[in-house]
Amino acid sequence: MATDNIIGDTIIKIMNLEEIPDAEKQKYTKIFKSFPDIKDDDIALTYASYVPYAKLRTYEADGKIIKTVIVLGLFFYELFDDEEREAVVAHELGHYIHRKNRSISEAKELSDKFYELESYYKRRDSEEKVVITYTDEEKHRIKELQDIHNAYEFYADDKAIKSGYGEQILSSLEKIAEKHYNRLSRMSKESVKARIERLKQMNNRGF
Ligand SMILES: [Zn+2]
Repeated sequence: MATDNIIGDTIIKIMNLEEIPDAEKQKYTKIFKSFPDIKDDDIALTYASYVPYAKLRTYEADGKIIKTVIVLGLFFYELFDDEEREAVVAHELGHYIHRKNRSISEAKELSDKFYELESYYKRRDSEEKVVITYTDEEKHRIKELQDIHNAYEFYADDKAIKSGYGEQILSSLEKIAEKHYNRLSRMSKESVKARIERLKQMNNRGF
């Protein structure tokens, strides 16, 4: 629909993103086929240099999602082979399905939780040289929030595995951990470690 395109184009402009050329986008049509509930024009794909891996962003108005953008990091692009790129898109589509099944208020609550977690980690990062002590209550809260974040990532990984990309999602994460680990936020570092561990175990049983 024309209106949707205007919204998508505006978002891309505001975020200073580059839209992936149609020819590039064709590479991903295979993935969209393994997610029959999703129409591929529901989602815009873009690149951004500041994203180390990939991110799903949704934009809402009047209690509805008006646009979803999958932002693919440029590092991901040079590092991964075609199948790994497809695996990452499948993982992001997993987040999209998860997001679609939640109300705006639930999604907002979740992002508040992640914000809270990031601020605990930031405190640790900014006082690096100082011995930081967390109360037991804070430690417990950090663990609780990180577990929620990990579960959220596991859900998206499971969707990627279901579309046949188990091995590729694992190898993409191993490459990120090896080459671009320092670019990740603390929250992502923790979840990347947990995801690799979990995927290795699943791979031992043959996905
Ligand atoms: Zn994810």
